[in-house]
Amino acid sequence: MPELPEAEVVAGQIRSRLLGAPLGDVWVGRADIVREGFSTLSWYPGASLQSVERFGKSVALRFVKDKVCRYVVAELGMTGLLLFQSTPTKHPQHVHVKMLFEDAREPELRYWNPRRFGRLSLLDTAGLDRYLARRFGLDPLAAAQQDFVELLQSRRGRLKSLLMHQQVIAGIGNIYANEILFRAGLHPHVQVSRLSVARVEKLYQIMCEVLHEAIACGGSSVRDFFAPDGTEGQYKRRHLVYGKVGQPCPNHCGGVIRRFQGERSAYFCLSCQSLRSTK
Ligand SMILES: [Zn+2]
Repeated sequence: MPELPEAEVVAGQIRSRLLGAPLGDVWVGRADIVREGFSTLSWYPGASLQSVERFGKSVALRFVKDKVCRYVVAELGMTGLLLFQSTPTKHPQHVHVKMLFEDAREPELRYWNPRRFGRLSLLDTAGLDRYLARRFGLDPLAAAQQDFVELLQSRRGRLKSLLMHQQVIAGIGNIYANEILFRAGLHPHVQVSRLSVARVEKLYQIMCEVLHEAIACGGSSVRDFFAPDGTEGQYKRRHLVYGKVGQPCPNHCGGVIRRFQGERSAYFCLSCQSLRSTK
């Protein structure tokens, strides 16, 4: 379940505690957790961590050694977490990778992934470019409003599916798609092509507000999300519709929150999010 805000919180914590730290060793418990680049594992010891970036729901650690740079990219989507050593781990047998740092605030960064949806990739710069091009569309927090408007105008299909389509817009999953659409007053199944420019502009602003607010709250801890230091995200308390089926609409419209069962559940209020409301 980690989505963009959670991945951003993870990247921020690693940045604040490990930037510049030299890597002593990397332990990999099961080789199949490495999607790509396993044969380059021996390059990493002795390299130092130069930057930490988020792409979609993934976190990329950039290491440099002898002016060469390589990346460790961790997919957090679904069940993957990056945790510091001091954070107690449920089911420690699911720690599949340990990065051991020397003279750092955190001696160890672990990749924990109980269901192994998601992998690590060890990539050079060209490999990272290919990885990003294959997987990630426009980043909601990096895109200008005009880019977002043009992107939506060029697409067809249902709005919620589009918001969650990682190769179109990278980082939004089911929780934030539902929260954004409710606040924007847009039905999850509305056809993107029917939305006015004004509605898309408002959607963009609400999307940015929700994502920034969620990052400031440390993300949402639903099921198994913890930040690397073990803290839980508090944005769950501000969820208005996600997981609230049968509860009164928080807009006090008199309606109740409904759920569509689909590929991923849509939570919405039919009075506040009419299919006809597109202008
Ligand atoms: Zn309502």
